[in-house]
Amino acid sequence: EAKTFSRGSLVVFDESMRRRIRRRMQVEQGLRDAIRDDNLFLLFQPIVCLRTGRVVSVEALVRWEHPELGRMMPEEFIPIAEECGLIVPLGERVLEQGFQCLARWSAGDDSPTSGISLNLARNHLMMPDLPRLLEAEAHRAGISPSDVHLEITEGAVMPDVAAARERLGQLRKVGFRLAIDDFGTGYSSLACLHQFPFDLLKIDRLFLEGLGFSPDRVAIVRAITTLADILGFRVVAEGIETPDQLALLRELGCDYGQGYYFSRPVPIDEIPAFLPLPSPSDVGVDLRC
Ligand code: C2E
Ligand code: MG
Ligand code: MG
Ligand code: MG
Repeated sequence: EAKTFSRGSLVVFDESMRRRIRRRMQVEQGLRDAIRDDNLFLLFQPIVCLRTGRVVSVEALVRWEHPELGRMMPEEFIPIAEECGLIVPLGERVLEQGFQCLARWSAGDDSPTSGISLNLARNHLMMPDLPRLLEAEAHRAGISPSDVHLEITEGAVMPDVAAARERLGQLRKVGFRLAIDDFGTGYSSLACLHQFPFDLLKIDRLFLEGLGFSPDRVAIVRAITTLADILGFRVVAEGIETPDQLALLRELGCDYGQGYYFSRPVPIDEIPAFLPLPSPSDVGVDLRC
């Protein structure tokens, strides 16, 4: 029986660990093949203006159908891609597909939106030639970088703030828009936010859990929207699931929203140009905190 020591305690490789390791190897190999064969695809989730219900952009979320394991979610395979050096080729496929989708929608007249939001991993962000490559790719696809929001998580800019800031500045300079993703989950201080050229700040869905019930949550979200306003960032609330959350966020001055309340990630032709907003009388909001 294989044995190993981990933080001083004896761990025996049991059947479940063997299965986990096997799965991990399966995912890694499968991912290599999927990238090579271009078998990744995108689903889209609308980002909605909370004043008008208009779909202002769609976030592209990568999916993959593993031949044996079935539908794979990014929470599982993105970290693996990051660890085994596949995140850049994966990201390149996603960006290329995303740009092409945007070009197709722009050409058609029943497209729900004229913008796309794409996630960019840290290693990809820090690739030396990225701004130039992306600019060329956009040009080739026939789209304007100003219709593309690149989403970068707070965690991805933090390890080397100066380098990330320079890189983001270059991307901004060639016309791309920038969003800080999952805001509030990393350890970036609110104080250094103003040093970055972000257009959008996406509040992590963590803060929406219990939003209607916890005064703390309301206070935090209020502080974030106030600060964003001062710094000139627009705010997107992620993970809106209920009409009450939606009403609260509108009260708090949040510009845009995204979440299962509006739509799960779906193929693009299932997204309408407008999504209905509940009238204020439909929800009971209590802001006395
Ligand atoms: P993210 O960029 O924060 O994307 C939002 C995630 O929250 C998506 O999960 C979406 O399905 C989920 N979500 C949206 N609304 C709700 C809601 O109301 N409730 C709940 N519980 N969840 C909601 P998904 O698609 O599984 O993606 C997870 C993460 O994987 C993304 O988080 C992003 O960080 C990463 N990811 C996805 N696609 C890509 C990609 O193409 N490249 C890179 N580098 N990362 C990606
Ligand atoms: Mg995102
Ligand atoms: Mg997010
Ligand atoms: Mg997330």
